[in-house]
Amino acid sequence: MLAMKLYSLASKSLFKHILKRRFYGALIKQLRKIERRNNMKIILDAGHGYNTPGKRTPDNIREWTLNNKVANYIEEYLRGYNVEIIRTDDKSGNIDVSLAERRNKTNSIFPNLFISIHHNALTGNWGNHSGIEVYSHTLGTLEDVKFANLVSKKMSEKIGLPNRGSKKAQYYVLGCKPGITAILCEGGFMDSTIDYKIITTEDGQRKYAQAVAYGVIEYLGLIKNENSQPQANEQKELYKVKITTPVLRIRKDPNINSNITGKVFKNQVYTIVAEENGWGKLKSGAGWIYLSYTTRNINSSINPIKNNKFNVKVKKKRAMVRCQPNSKANLAGSRELHFGDVFIATDIVKGENVNGNNLWYKSAKGNYVWSGGLNRI
Ligand SMILES: [Zn+2]
Repeated sequence: MLAMKLYSLASKSLFKHILKRRFYGALIKQLRKIERRNNMKIILDAGHGYNTPGKRTPDNIREWTLNNKVANYIEEYLRGYNVEIIRTDDKSGNIDVSLAERRNKTNSIFPNLFISIHHNALTGNWGNHSGIEVYSHTLGTLEDVKFANLVSKKMSEKIGLPNRGSKKAQYYVLGCKPGITAILCEGGFMDSTIDYKIITTEDGQRKYAQAVAYGVIEYLGLIKNENSQPQANEQKELYKVKITTPVLRIRKDPNINSNITGKVFKNQVYTIVAEENGWGKLKSGAGWIYLSYTTRNINSSINPIKNNKFNVKVKKKRAMVRCQPNSKANLAGSRELHFGDVFIATDIVKGENVNGNNLWYKSAKGNYVWSGGLNRI
């Protein structure tokens, strides 16, 4: 009898003990979940380093340079949102941080998202292959696939390149701890004559960045801090246009079915602050106009700056200096510039179209250098 009573008491307290542990275990788990949602972190990883062998366009623009620009713009677009951004690459480009180091850092920080930014290559020789891809790990979770699908769709729509799909591969950096949603983006081919024209321009890089940033905002349900400053670059002036048709309608959104919000007239000049599917956003905020009925105001500066002087750095082997913005014009001044050279420019003007790019820098000395493979710094 006593034995039974003792047994019953013991089992009761054991039962209570188990219940207690279960309860607190679940509570702690829940609290951890809440903490993770309240302190959201993402890791951005610009693939490679500046000096990584291979990994460049056929005309020698480094993949890291492109990856880094996109990663910087993503940071800019996520500024003011309730998320902390950490980079795993070396932002100076000097060190190609090893894949193991990148993965270890990711695992120790345990972010909500890991996003590796890359640009693709097929043969290393120019071709007309084209498109974007987003990878998740072959052994990844459904969440990885869900996020990869979301970002690949946004990238293709924003950048305007074919969606080659959300794919799976056993990429080392994607093999981080379960619970970290991880993707690797390939934003167009460096050796594609089609994609090159987009991925080497600020406009194309910003579109890539916006697609990823908007994917992050949607996936994590991020909220913008109301006290945050508006992004200075949201209204960055791209260029000026002159209207070439008698009357051109302004639409609320960049499509023909959108509401008309006003009109502009022939020979008027407007500043464009964003571009989408052939439409330009007016700086005034009145809406969008269809750019086919405009010309870029020749000699108007892109991103005009006060004293109209800026530095341009040569990022390819050799750049020719000419008397006119034309590749057949006579050589002038220093005749040619080399990788790493910096010159002072006063303007960007329209000139001969080379590989789909007709923009030329006008140097302070009054000469011209084609803008391909040059960077404004
Ligand atoms: Zn890469």
